Amino acid sequence: MEMDTIAAISTALGEGAIGIVRLSGDQAIAIGDKLFKGTKRLEDTPSHTIVYGHLMDDASEEAIEEAMVTVMRAPRTYTREDIVEINCHGGLVSVNRVLQAVLAKGARLAEPGEFTKRAFLNGRIDLSQAEGVIDLIRSKTDRAMNVALRQVEGRLSKKIGKLRQALLETIASIEVNIDYPEYDAETMTAKLINEKMTIVLAEIEALLATAKQGKVLREGLATAIIGRPNVGKSSLMNSLVHEAKAIVTDIPGTTRDTLEEYVNVRGVPLRLIDTAGIRETEDIVERIGVERSRQALKEADLILLVLNYAEKLSKEDEALFEAVKGLDVVVIVNKIDQTGRIDMERVRQLAGENPVVATSFLQEEGVDQLEEAISRLFFAGGVEGADLTYVSNARHIGLLNQAKAHAEEAIAASLTDVPVDLIQIDVTRTWELLGEIIGEDVQDSLIDQLFSQFCLGK
Ligand code: GDP
Ligand code: ZN
Repeated sequence: MEMDTIAAISTALGEGAIGIVRLSGDQAIAIGDKLFKGTKRLEDTPSHTIVYGHLMDDASEEAIEEAMVTVMRAPRTYTREDIVEINCHGGLVSVNRVLQAVLAKGARLAEPGEFTKRAFLNGRIDLSQAEGVIDLIRSKTDRAMNVALRQVEGRLSKKIGKLRQALLETIASIEVNIDYPEYDAETMTAKLINEKMTIVLAEIEALLATAKQGKVLREGLATAIIGRPNVGKSSLMNSLVHEAKAIVTDIPGTTRDTLEEYVNVRGVPLRLIDTAGIRETEDIVERIGVERSRQALKEADLILLVLNYAEKLSKEDEALFEAVKGLDVVVIVNKIDQTGRIDMERVRQLAGENPVVATSFLQEEGVDQLEEAISRLFFAGGVEGADLTYVSNARHIGLLNQAKAHAEEAIAASLTDVPVDLIQIDVTRTWELLGEIIGEDVQDSLIDQLFSQFCLGK
């Protein structure tokens, strides 16, 4: 495949010690040599080594930059093309000047994600790995990063590949049996389909079972903090954020927490939602009733329900419990530094299965237990299980669900006298849908859309 040579700044823009301008393509080394004067020509530099020198300006014959240049020849590179990386001073001006210089010598400015797109198009990585790179760039905590890394390494791809292989073998044996219909071939084949598809279905379900945690790591847990005025919601937010960003006041109802941000709780990214509807939860139940406030709270993955230890449970408190029934809730009894008036037994009863944590945000007590309770709610088994592949991408989850539906249909049909060549359609569809996860049979438009999410230089 003939492709032009692309270039981009591949380090984060801004103040850094070094900046890297990366070139990829057939002309990468030749373009580099038009600019570079060093101890060696890049053309004569062995692959995967670095040379020191200067980038020269044609007209003035003066050095525009001091640079260390790495030469990497195809195919053992990120894109499987020749790659030249120019390491220069990190300031915006100097990196930009180097970029302009290589563009002037015939490179084209890369589109966002184009380096990774080439890695995909040149067959070095598959689509789910490329998506892992996007996640990696965007990951909010170390745990999320590990999940993305595993995807980049191709763990999900391998699992999907195995499943597709099993399906292919099933399709092949159906074909054989259709072509050589011996006595009872139909029932034999239906039995085989049933066995194989039951195994495939179980694997798909196991992958889908990781989706909840995968999604949490990838997108963060949408978290709503609710409670009566003055119980300590803003203080809770502050202690999670570890910085006093929300405004805390003494006057009931005067806090205005319009923040939305991520906090990292033991590797679980919480996205604190404070949208119009939820922000008003201080009186939401009174105002719009339990049913509608339930609706409003539904967009939250996690509810932190705050109560005041120093006051008796009120009707509003009970209504809040009612509004969050069936959702994932951590009940927080705050202000334990004060004299207790709350009926803890009643609190536990209302909380049911949900964890109850006692805190004093004023004295920074109980925050550890709170973090423990939150992370346990979502990662009971421990997130860093050695061999877990998390499915975290909405596109993958959608495809797995469709594949699951077709696998189920094939299994159901195999128990009836539906002709096997009809059942085979569902088996084949399952195989196709799984293929889309790793980028087989996806239309170009989908591919373009995917890669445009990348930042420049990746
Ligand atoms: P919100 O209205 O629910 O957001 O409550 P705030 O976080 O604004 O807190 C209301 C008041 O209670 C502030 O004066 C806080 O300093 C105080 N407060 C918060 N947590 C505690 C606590 O654990 N103990 C005590 N004694 N006061 C607290
Ligand atoms: Zn508040």
